[in-house]
This record gives sequence, C-alpha cells and structure tokens, in this order.
Amino acid sequence: MTVRAGVFAFTSCEGCSLITLEVEDRLLEILGRVEFVNFREAIDDKSDDYDIAFIDGAITREHEVGELMKIRERAAILVAMGACAVQGGLYFLKEYHEPGETLAYVYGDKAGQFDTMPVRPVSQYVKVDHSLYGCPIDKREFVEVVTALLSGRRPNIPDYPVCNECRMSENICVFERGLACMGPVTRAGCGAICPSRHVGCFGCRGMVDKPALDQHRAVLTERGLTEEEITARYRMFNGHWGSAHEKP
Ligand code: SF4
Ligand code: SF4
Repeated sequence: MTVRAGVFAFTSCEGCSLITLEVEDRLLEILGRVEFVNFREAIDDKSDDYDIAFIDGAITREHEVGELMKIRERAAILVAMGACAVQGGLYFLKEYHEPGETLAYVYGDKAGQFDTMPVRPVSQYVKVDHSLYGCPIDKREFVEVVTALLSGRRPNIPDYPVCNECRMSENICVFERGLACMGPVTRAGCGAICPSRHVGCFGCRGMVDKPALDQHRAVLTERGLTEEEITARYRMFNGHWGSAHEKP
C-alpha cells in the first residue's frame, strides 16, 4: 500500500520538516510506501490530494487558521509535528508580553504591515490524530509513526518521564551535579539527550499526561530555584499546557 503525504509548515523554523528528510537509513523504505505530494522544503509539487498531513509549526496568524482547516478536511490522518505544533513551542513565549510588543520589537516601524494573533497549538483549531514531540522531533520517532500508520496500528510513543531513559542510560542525575532538570515531568523519547550531556532537560517534548507537578516544583525549590525561575522553566516549552490547565 502506498499513501500520499503532505508536510506543511506554519509558524516555525521548519526544523521538524527538515528532520523528516534526515531519515537516510530508512528513507528508501519509507519512500517506497509514502509518496510526498506536497512538501515545500523538498519538492515542487503542491497537490491537494493526500492521505496524511504532517503539520510543523504553531498557529499565530489569521490566514494560517483557514489553511490548517482546509488541510484537515483533505487529510484522513493529521499528525502535529514538533513542540511548536503540539504545544505552541518557544513561540508561546510571546504570550508573556504585551500584545503587539514582540511585533514592534521584531519589525520596528514596519510592524503595521504584519498581523498576529495569540499563539496556539494546532489542536486548538483542528482534531490531531497523532503527535510527534520535541524541538526538533526525533527522527526515529518519525519513522515509528510512519511505520505504525502504514501498518494500521497506533504509534508507540512513550508516556513516561525522561528520568526513565536516564536510568536506562545509567546517567548520573544532573540534580546530583547541582543543576535543575525538567526530566521528571517531561515525556521521554529523546533518549535523555540533554542529561546524557550533563545538561538539565528543558522540557522540549512537553509534559507526560499526568505530570507530578507539585513534587517537581518542591524539588526545584529545595534545590534553590526561586518561584520566578521555576515558572520560567515551565513556561519555556509548556506555556500553553500551563494556560490550558491553569498551571504554571
Ligand atoms: S538528570 Fe533529569 S531526567 Fe535524568 S534522572 Fe535526573 S531529573 Fe531525571
Ligand atoms: S532531554 Fe529534555 S530538552 Fe533535551 S531533548 Fe529530551 S525532552 Fe528535549
């Protein structure tokens, strides 16, 4: 069976789109079964006839809402791809400034030529069938989602924290090194890349479904972080999760 797929980028750096081109070792196998028919970064074709739509990026502009809805109508399966599409990503930090402030900062006296609206994840406007997490996404996970969709099964995406992967890698916890870490509340799947390099997790893969927030905040407080510093860590990649759940 061959499926037709489109990769669409909204407000993003398009890094997650590019990751889909980096699966060299599995590319031929995937390309044999997936025909990309609309993918600005990779091909000239712009067909509207596709089965799967991969969405990269947050929604931050009026015209993006309509485009996203049209894509949803055409695709049988829609996959939100990366922190921006799933959580609003780093773009959500705009929400912590006065309306219009960032527009003026970036575009100066040309700000009036651009429209902007509150940053929202894709799921705010359309039904999302599957999510690929991370900033950027993990290419092994992209292959897993594509393979699962082709086989008609649910993709195997972890719902346990990064700490589990640290243990599997026999890492010394970065808290033991005096650093702070979002790993206890963050969805695993990256192989604990940051703690494995002695850097605390920033939470780019978003939170597990039931994060132990109170316990995590208590540990961060114990380690000397102020309320402000803790909130800044939570907001970095999870601001929208916070606003949706009235936390942080
Ligand atoms: S380094 Fe972070 S992710 Fe790893 S075990 Fe410690 S708290 Fe968990
Ligand atoms: S360790 Fe955390 S910040 Fe680093 S890639 Fe994994 S989820 Fe993202």
